[in-house]
Amino acid sequence: MNFNKSQELYKQGLEHLVGAVNSPVRAFSSVGGNPLFIKKAKGSKIIDVDGNRYIDLVLSYGPMILGHRHRKVERAISKSLKYGYTFGASTENEIKLAEIVCSAFPAMDKVRFVNSGTEAVISGIRLARAFTGRDKIIKFSGCYHGHQDALLVAAGSGLATLSLPGSKGVPDAAVENTLISTYNNIESVKEHFKKHNDIAGVIIEPVGGNMGVVIPQGSFLEELKQLTLQNGALLIADEVMTGFRSKFGGAQELFNVEADITCLGKVIGGGFPVGAYGARNEIMEMVAPLGEMYQAGTLSGNPIAMAAGISTLNELKKQNPYETFEKVAGKIQYFLENSAKKYGVEITVNRFGSMMNPFFTCEKVTNFQEAQTTNTDKFAIFFWEMIRNGVFLPPSQFEAWFLSSALTKRDIKNLEIAIDRSMKAVSKSI
Ligand SMILES: *Cc1c(COP(=O)(O)O)cnc(C)c1O
Repeated sequence: MNFNKSQELYKQGLEHLVGAVNSPVRAFSSVGGNPLFIKKAKGSKIIDVDGNRYIDLVLSYGPMILGHRHRKVERAISKSLKYGYTFGASTENEIKLAEIVCSAFPAMDKVRFVNSGTEAVISGIRLARAFTGRDKIIKFSGCYHGHQDALLVAAGSGLATLSLPGSKGVPDAAVENTLISTYNNIESVKEHFKKHNDIAGVIIEPVGGNMGVVIPQGSFLEELKQLTLQNGALLIADEVMTGFRSKFGGAQELFNVEADITCLGKVIGGGFPVGAYGARNEIMEMVAPLGEMYQAGTLSGNPIAMAAGISTLNELKKQNPYETFEKVAGKIQYFLENSAKKYGVEITVNRFGSMMNPFFTCEKVTNFQEAQTTNTDKFAIFFWEMIRNGVFLPPSQFEAWFLSSALTKRDIKNLEIAIDRSMKAVSKSI
């Protein structure tokens, strides 16, 4: 296996692209080496420019839940392309996608489509503030909600990978209304509510996915919902990653907790740039043109993106792969734990439906601080050995692995072999 063409493109890319990537999570800084350049993908596999084939557990960080280029999605996109690309006026497909989304999320009567998860959250936060007339927002350390100024503190994803505390260029004023709590620690939320009576909302990833996978423990989410209710604040569920991924109705369906505002992204665009935020009528009627909260977008509800979203969600509903995901994830957990035991490597595996990852630590991981006890050097060795054995993982200990419904029995067998070899490589390094 060689990476000559990827290396060459990386060098070329450095000239006019920042770090040769358009999103820092694609850089390989935390695992060493240079990023791979991808040529194409189909089904459960992704192929780089040197012709190396990998089982894809990145799936573009979540969206490609059906695997790549599902024929029904491809057909819907091709059909839509023939009618035009964007009109600056409404199309029927926006109504269709809205119907699918609102029927999956009972907490949403109305939805507004935007172009990314970041935009969905920016708008969701603005809406919480508009509705409550309050300014403060509570977020949890290790949760990532896109790159808006106000939430770029104690954030996960690339910031965790690169060990960045926040971001330069964010004025103090932009984060002075942001309060930080600890995931799975309800007391840390109560304290803020005791001190402040102007909290507009609490934003949470109902299952953490940007500090590695972190599961809400016990009745944490229900207590959070109660706390917001008692204090006249809104619960904002950032389901950009979890929406449609671990259950059609997202984490809210599984945990039976209804958020006031829900933010979506990733899967709902089927690989195209779509985000969405929604809520019950009373809240959504604040949004322009019905209300006084302004939010707009030239390409929002883009017809081709809507076609990709509709066909992806319809196919997903039909396949209903969630039980299979559970089984496959359980197998992969077993492969990881079994090989770790065999070679004497300490790991903790967290998983939720089709999102999972191992942490190289013996600690339980229930929040960001515990996630950081992981040994990232071991992850880097594991990562490269997986690459050499034909498995494409996110190049960071703090990103979730994703499963697609295109995984075959043979892929799962190959994953078992790759995991065994990679764990062995980790054990030899220590
Ligand atoms: C990916 C993600 C975002 C940001 O979405 P983009 O489309 O990358 O802007 C926001 N919140 C969560 C939970 C995410 O996983």
